Amino acid sequence: MPKPDLDQFIDPICGMHLDPEEAPAVATYNGHSYYFCSDTHREQFLTDPETYAKLLESEERNQQ
Ligand SMILES: [Zn+2]
Repeated sequence: MPKPDLDQFIDPICGMHLDPEEAPAVATYNGHSYYFCSDTHREQFLTDPETYAKLLESEERNQQ
């Protein structure tokens, strides 16, 4: 069972669940912190953060 307090740390690009203490990349957008498996995915997020932030929201909703 995953720890509930880690559920919010999902790479919005690839959907990977991340431990915020071990995530290799982080970005802040709209007051939220987003964690990434790699700098590549962080850069991809930053090309269109609004779209990816919405994707992450809908993905979290689907899992509930
Ligand atoms: Zn990723």
